[in-house]
Amino acid sequence: MKKSSMEFDLHTHSSQGSACSRMHIWDLIQAACQKGLDGVCITDHDYCWDPGDLAKLHRESGIQVYGGVELSTSVGEILVYGVHQPLLHLRDDLAKLTLLVRELGGLMVAAHPFRTDFALSAFSREERGLEPIEVEEMCRRPVFDFVDTLEVYNGRSSWQEIQAARKAAVVLGRKGTGGSDAHSVLSVGSCVTVFDNPVESEIQLVAQLRKGRFQAKKKEVSQHVLGM
Ligand SMILES: [Zn+2]
Ligand SMILES: [Zn+2]
Repeated sequence: MKKSSMEFDLHTHSSQGSACSRMHIWDLIQAACQKGLDGVCITDHDYCWDPGDLAKLHRESGIQVYGGVELSTSVGEILVYGVHQPLLHLRDDLAKLTLLVRELGGLMVAAHPFRTDFALSAFSREERGLEPIEVEEMCRRPVFDFVDTLEVYNGRSSWQEIQAARKAAVVLGRKGTGGSDAHSVLSVGSCVTVFDNPVESEIQLVAQLRKGRFQAKKKEVSQHVLGM
């Protein structure tokens, strides 16, 4: 029977493309299969996977495997989908980067946009005499002038950070995405994006993201959040 919706982890890191990840690409894909995901995007740091290698992984695993990149830029980390060429040289020229990604039919998502704001817990902010963080103020940051949307559910984010991102998505009028940001097999699929309609290609995935035909959600508390 054909599925009516599809669940993807849009944010994962393999040891081949991210020095901080302990997870071999095959372990990542196996974990995604075991967790019943329909697909996964490999979004290594500033690293562009060969589309042919990803297509091979897709064929051999039976689940959809697409590329992507988590680009370090002057306005924070940005997840780029649907582009298969190096973009690192444009990371400090956001206007050019945005133009090129659009020309190539890609899409940009602000990754965990409030991570540094919540490096301190609400209590420790209060103890240190810091003002509470205003989401409306955070939404005026330059990154939101460039990206198509923002990541709301990130498997490595605290609940406070996720709540702020949820509010920001409402303020900005965008649908927020979800991804585990997994660096180890335990976390794969901890946060996901559920597409309303079946996705059968990378072009369809980007088109559905652009149209906002999806819901993001947290599936389980990742080991990272538990401090394990
Ligand atoms: Zn990141
Ligand atoms: Zn990441």
